[in-house]
Amino acid sequence: MIVAEQKNLEEIRREIAPYSRVLILGCGTCVTVCSAGGEREVALLHNALRMAETRSGNGTHAFSEFTLKRQCDPEFLDLLKGRVEEVDAILSLACGIGVQAVAERFADLPVLPGVNTFFMGVPKEWGIWDERCAACGDCRLAETGGICPITRCTKGILNGPCAGVKNGKCEASKEMDCAWVEIYRRLERLQQLDNMRRYYPPRNFRTIPRPKRIVTKANIEVGGM
Ligand code: SF4
Ligand code: SF4
Repeated sequence: MIVAEQKNLEEIRREIAPYSRVLILGCGTCVTVCSAGGEREVALLHNALRMAETRSGNGTHAFSEFTLKRQCDPEFLDLLKGRVEEVDAILSLACGIGVQAVAERFADLPVLPGVNTFFMGVPKEWGIWDERCAACGDCRLAETGGICPITRCTKGILNGPCAGVKNGKCEASKEMDCAWVEIYRRLERLQQLDNMRRYYPPRNFRTIPRPKRIVTKANIEVGGM
């Protein structure tokens, strides 16, 4: 899932300052699970913004709130049609994908980000998330025992470990397991240690064309009918 964190209140207040009527828009998927921008966070932020305005004696905004199941899905964006006519801006608490999807659909309306989007990751324990994938577009997990060297190695090296490893820990932090030691251990368990002897050529991520687009086979078949 995509992991994000809500921006601080002052930054959000600066973003919405030029607009009078603001729709605070939550997303019911990833940002709900990581407690950054679901229905609950929308309500909490709404209250916090109102209180801040009352305290400052500068209560010029009219807020409304709504949460879509997914902001990145055009199907759900149709549900906003009536609401967007009554606001001057949308404060989206979705990840960067959701913010852009809403901005593309409602091109005449400012759509402001209410969260910072960090990475794709997994929950380690309640409230703690670890990065697991950088969407590099050429997944190597089959060769690395299901452990991603790009996100879990500090240097993202494809042939490790580097000389900085000590007692199984990364040189960047004594708290952090070296990804390549973890890869070695996993491959050993899987009896695939031969993979450690292979050489993986360096990858130049700057040559990957952006923005990427995937056209699925199903789409081609439908388009060709
Ligand atoms: S190699 Fe790592 S960053 Fe690339 S797709 Fe696989 S998990 Fe994601
Ligand atoms: S010690 Fe391990 S995780 Fe840290 S940078 Fe070197 S190879 Fe990567």
